[in-house]
Amino acid sequence: MKEQFRPHHIFCQRFLTLRFPERGEEYAGVKRRALDIIGSHDETLIEVIEGVDQICRVCLNRKADRCESPKGNEEAVRKWDAIILKGLGITYGETRTAKQWRTLIDAKAPLDLCTSRCAYRSTCTIAG
Ligand code: SF4
Repeated sequence: MKEQFRPHHIFCQRFLTLRFPERGEEYAGVKRRALDIIGSHDETLIEVIEGVDQICRVCLNRKADRCESPKGNEEAVRKWDAIILKGLGITYGETRTAKQWRTLIDAKAPLDLCTSRCAYRSTCTIAG
C-alpha cells in the first residue's frame, strides 16, 4: 500500500521537535505513525500530494478540505509546500520509497526557507 503525504509532512517530520498537544490524541497517533514510516521504513512507498493528507484529516485545524490553522491557512500552507517541492527539485505525484525520500532530503536540507523564514526553526534540529 502506498502512503501519501503533503510536502512539508515528508520533509519536516524527522527534524521538528515541537509537539502539538492542542491538535488532539488522534493527531498525535497518526503523526507518530507517519514519523515511523518516513523516518525508519525502507521500502514503503510514499507519494507526495497536494493539499490535505492523512495527518491533516485528523487535525483539529482542518475544516473540510482545508487547513484553517491560525498560523497559516490552506493557501499559506500550500505556498510553503510549493517552496519545499521546488527546493527538493520534485513535482506533485512523485512516488519514492521512504529510504529514497530520506536520501533526497538529507542531500538538500536545510533549505533556505528552513534557516530564514520558517516559524518553527527554533524547534528544528537542522535549522535551529
Ligand atoms: S490541517 Fe494544517 S495544521 Fe493541521 S496538519 Fe494539516 S497543515 Fe498542519
